[in-house]
Amino acid sequence: MKYDRIYNFSAGPAIMPEPVLEEIRDELMNCRGSGMSVMEMSHRSKVFEEIIKEAEADLRALMGIPENYKVLFIQGGATLQFAMIPMNLMKNGAAAYIETGAWSKKALQEAGKYGRVDVAASSKDRNYSYIPDCSDLPIAEDADYIYICQNETIHGTTYRTLPNAKGKVLVSDQSSMFLSQPCHVSEFGMIYAGVQKNVGPAGMVIAIIRGDLIREDVDEKVPTYLRYATHAGSDSLYNTPNCWSIYCCGKVFKYLQRIGGLTEMCRRNEEKAKVLYDFLDSSKLFKGTVEKEFRSMMNVPFVTGDKDLDAKVVAYTKAAGFENLKGHRSVGGLRASIFNAMPKEGVEALVDCLKEFERTQG
Ligand SMILES: *Cc1c(COP(=O)(O)O)cnc(C)c1O
Repeated sequence: MKYDRIYNFSAGPAIMPEPVLEEIRDELMNCRGSGMSVMEMSHRSKVFEEIIKEAEADLRALMGIPENYKVLFIQGGATLQFAMIPMNLMKNGAAAYIETGAWSKKALQEAGKYGRVDVAASSKDRNYSYIPDCSDLPIAEDADYIYICQNETIHGTTYRTLPNAKGKVLVSDQSSMFLSQPCHVSEFGMIYAGVQKNVGPAGMVIAIIRGDLIREDVDEKVPTYLRYATHAGSDSLYNTPNCWSIYCCGKVFKYLQRIGGLTEMCRRNEEKAKVLYDFLDSSKLFKGTVEKEFRSMMNVPFVTGDKDLDAKVVAYTKAAGFENLKGHRSVGGLRASIFNAMPKEGVEALVDCLKEFERTQG
């Protein structure tokens, strides 16, 4: 392959589009005629101001973000949001969480430090291999919001339909599915995503939050940096932001626009995921771990049913140039993360490799 790159199935930090990496390389020594790289310039400079403004405008255009929503670039990754969300959005001190896997579980555990957490539904009973029915959830009167992880990166599940929020604010962790398909932002009070899964370099989260949810009157002990109002009031430039990540993400937004936006991205993702799932459904050796209806288009966990054989497959694929296919320890087996930037050829090549394993060593 070009540059001797391998097919990288990492769940994050993950693969980025090659044309974007090339552009970044070309601008590394001299970004937009400034005579310096983006890593060396002031976040208050004219050039950087253009970079961050364009990134926000391009993201707004891509997702069709309504004007009454703020777009925030915040450091601390998705994990910091597990705390910032309850710190900022709990007014009554209560929220409903849907427990569908490792990431929603972490989020609800963290939220429990700040208020009452009601687990309104859970799929823990079958090791998070499905999404529970959320059409008529028991939501307490005083719940300030309903929280979901829309794509569970480790367990490989995704929602087919959003929960019936019964008029409450819906908050969604979209980290591992952000920009993989069209999204109706107005269905949510807040969407956020750590960018290192499906967009750019690690160390930043993008939060899209409805203006009326950004409160000035949070508990006075909440640190300045951890208030959405701080970031909203300074256009994500309260302090030095992750300039590098903002710059790279901006490139990815432009790339997505060039290929035809989120509708085209979704078409490609569906086509790609089908190649892998069709194989898993026809294989006698491998099987997917998630109920069909709730299978993620981005993270595909699968097993042989035999731990030693799983390890053999991982070693076999690695030797053939396919990296990071070892499954997370809580699910075992293998996991192929096939984010936006993974080309269809990569998935086809992986399937060929798995077929060959099955034929010769299964
Ligand atoms: C990776 C991931 C996180 C944590 O992201 P960090 O940026 O490492 O904090 C949270 N939620 C989901 C769904 C993830 O995939």
